[in-house]
Amino acid sequence: MPTTGTSISAPQNYHSQWTTEVIQVLNSDPERGLSSTEVDKRQSEFGKNELKGKPGKPAWLRFVLQFNQALLYILLIAGLIKALLLQWTNAGVIWGVTLINAIIGFVQESKAEGAIAALAQAVTTEATVIRNGQKSRIPSQELVPGDIVLLTSGDKVPADLRLFNVRNLQVDESALTGESVPVEKSTADLRPDTPLAERVNMAYAGSFVTFGQGSGIVVAIANATEMGRISQSLEQTTSLSTPLTRKFDKFSHQLLYIILGLAAMTFAVGLGKGQTWPAMFEASVALAVSAIPEGLPAVVTVTMAIGVNRMAKRHAIIRKLPAVETLGGATVICSDKTGTLTENQMTVQGIYAGGQHFQVTGTGYNPQGEILFEQQPVDLQTGYFPALADCLMAGLLCTDSHLAKNSNGNWSVVGDPTECAIIIVANKAGWSQSEMTKLTPRIDGIPFESEFQYMATLHDNRDSESRIIYVKGSVEAITSRCEQMLNAEGELEPMADLELIEQRVVTILAKQGMRVLAFGKKIVSHGQNSVDHEDIASGLIFLGLQGMIDPPRPEVIAAVRACKTAGIQVKMITGDHITTAKAIAQQIGLEKDGQVQAFDGKQIAQMDNSQLAHAVEHGVVFARVAPEQKLRLVEALQSQGEIVAMTGDGVNDAPALRQADIGIAMGGAGTDVAREASDMLLTDDNFASIEAAVEEGRTVYQNLQKAIAFILPVNGGESMTILISALFARDLPILSLQVLWLNMVNSVAMTVPLAFEPKSDRVMKRPPRNPKEQLLSRTLFQRIAAVSIFNWILIFGMFEWVRQTIGDINIARTMAIQALVAGRIVYLLSISQLANVAARKIQGQAVSINDGRAMSVGILGTVLLQIIFSQWDVMNLLFKTAPLNLQQWLICLLPAIPMIPLAWFVNRIDPTN
Ligand code: ADP
Ligand code: MG
Repeated sequence: MPTTGTSISAPQNYHSQWTTEVIQVLNSDPERGLSSTEVDKRQSEFGKNELKGKPGKPAWLRFVLQFNQALLYILLIAGLIKALLLQWTNAGVIWGVTLINAIIGFVQESKAEGAIAALAQAVTTEATVIRNGQKSRIPSQELVPGDIVLLTSGDKVPADLRLFNVRNLQVDESALTGESVPVEKSTADLRPDTPLAERVNMAYAGSFVTFGQGSGIVVAIANATEMGRISQSLEQTTSLSTPLTRKFDKFSHQLLYIILGLAAMTFAVGLGKGQTWPAMFEASVALAVSAIPEGLPAVVTVTMAIGVNRMAKRHAIIRKLPAVETLGGATVICSDKTGTLTENQMTVQGIYAGGQHFQVTGTGYNPQGEILFEQQPVDLQTGYFPALADCLMAGLLCTDSHLAKNSNGNWSVVGDPTECAIIIVANKAGWSQSEMTKLTPRIDGIPFESEFQYMATLHDNRDSESRIIYVKGSVEAITSRCEQMLNAEGELEPMADLELIEQRVVTILAKQGMRVLAFGKKIVSHGQNSVDHEDIASGLIFLGLQGMIDPPRPEVIAAVRACKTAGIQVKMITGDHITTAKAIAQQIGLEKDGQVQAFDGKQIAQMDNSQLAHAVEHGVVFARVAPEQKLRLVEALQSQGEIVAMTGDGVNDAPALRQADIGIAMGGAGTDVAREASDMLLTDDNFASIEAAVEEGRTVYQNLQKAIAFILPVNGGESMTILISALFARDLPILSLQVLWLNMVNSVAMTVPLAFEPKSDRVMKRPPRNPKEQLLSRTLFQRIAAVSIFNWILIFGMFEWVRQTIGDINIARTMAIQALVAGRIVYLLSISQLANVAARKIQGQAVSINDGRAMSVGILGTVLLQIIFSQWDVMNLLFKTAPLNLQQWLICLLPAIPMIPLAWFVNRIDPTN
């Protein structure tokens, strides 16, 4: 028999070989899989199952690309002209500053990209394998050639597989072939020259199972897969571009043209007035560099990256960067119920079987508790409760889950909590799952899918003359297929009136918020080897119902309230029963205008688009919703102008997740398909984390607006100064080099801390931002204009005054700049949260030191830099500044005083906090 090594790694036409042949070549076993020792051996031989793409652009290239901005062209050319004029210091400083700017940009961009890439990698996919004869879930990276992998709908295919067992298996291979229609798979061997897209007996890494199940043997992993071959030729890139950054780009381009026009005009007018051309060149360059907010792009990147990090800390992983800003504008959150709004810790509390009601005691996933009938414990050994027994048996056998005892002796769920609750109640009656499965082995099954709302399994019957199908699912799905039912004596009776069951039983349980499942069975001939949807379309025997509680998550109640204050509607979209859903909605405070309006899937199906638009505005609960209907709901909400965040976990939720403005998938539960379609992933599956992400999204946007509100007035003030002075042929109060210092050094030191600003107390007390609102809103524009004018008066006034009193032009310029920065510090304090943080600290509230740290460091750094700027002789030489004496310093601080009422005033017209 061939061993591993050469034969495995050699390329093979696995699709043209018999499955048995492939399994033999790969030295595996379809039933038992590989042994642990064999896995270890192959892991060290083949490495991890990870795609390694071609490395992205080399660092040096990314660095050079930092200079690829119109503004930097201007600077580089300006430097060149200065050099031609033999003004070497000037040229050197201009080039030096552009270099520093590029370094800062490069470092920040790399950091942001790194952070985002790291998040994406933190999301690992898992695969179900058979090893050592046992089924287990492992991270996909640990797969080796020869592993036996089980696929089920919703899975991402983790490696290239040769399929040897399929069951209605359909795979979406669009990532590989571009063909969006899923391919139906089979196992037969094919001709060697079959093209990739037609190799129906293979499942390729990176494609998605959209339907059915199958099993296959891993024939290639990592870069040896077909996907790996493609990705080797693709560059790995992390895009930092979002709608907002694109808006910024557009904005700066427009600005640039205006500036260039103005600069040209200044140049011409000045020459006309008899100024020398080097003087006018200086003025034009100063104007151009003064008007452009050089520090802004860096701040945008940092702010976004920090937002992404903060969200990750609060269990929301951003998969697509634009979601960071969209989140802040969300107006509606549509959430799943089970597991997201509720704990997903089910406990069966009521059973209805054979016309009798039973109560169940005990909580959680431990088998302590009893089943009570008329207050008396039920003993299945002595008492005669055949319908109850059958109902419990169905629950024990018709399942894909089990309970496992972990090291500290607690029981934990492997699989679906709903199913585990049902297993536990059978345990309470004294039955063990493993024993019963041995007595009546499972032959085949249809796993649960939201679309069908039921699952079924086929078992050997104990009489060995027949086989038995057990089914469980939603009340409607099961009862509509039943023709007979068991009575208390275990005899068959015609099926009761469905409405009667619904009214009497379901409502009693569901009104308390219980999730109700129905159970049924069907006896079939011994020859039957598989179970299909048609087999259980009718003729079932109804066994009973089980109702289980699933308490709301306590933190969700507060999160829902927070959303409401923030003007965000919360809607529940669930596959569960309408009565159950309504009860839970009431418990978590979902009502709108004092009531919980609920619609179910049937009603939705009958509505036309305008009726639906009305329903989605007023309804808060949408129950028994089929996955396809989710898409309609999103579209209806969007047609009303809403920005929709929507959760989803199933295969069929993907279209709705894509359509939603923010598609949210679950990191814990949920399928790979849903995850791939999503913009954001919740690591704890918790609704409260969505609310947290919205809060952070709003903070990101707010901090960006603060940065704009902070940076632009300085550009405004500078350019007004230069424009006016140049046009009136006066000495420039500020030189182009000094402008560069202010815009690139001073602005960065003072603005980057804004990205770290903690969220304001009021961030969730305001309505969502209007998505159509311009980046530069009217009030923000007014604020910028007001502060710009102040800054102009400051620079111009200080310069002219010093020039006329002290007379030295260098001192005049230096003092004008220092006065500007002093006013700037006050202004920064007025828009930052520092004062609020300090106030909270004084009031004894818990504040994190991080909250104020960045801002304090930024301001201290600024002060230090400004002192160096004027007191150090090297700087005097480079930037034509002059050292100031104490009296002059104090004069520079004076303008900070009128800044206080101005800041107060602009904060009133345009609140930033
Ligand atoms: P949700 O997750 O929104 O509560 P689902 O689509 O998962 O809703 O479930 C819809 C209905 O299907 C449930 O109300 C329940 O009756 C039934 N159901 C849920 N899980 C299972 C399961 N594992 N097996 C059989 N039926 C189930
Ligand atoms: Mg569910």
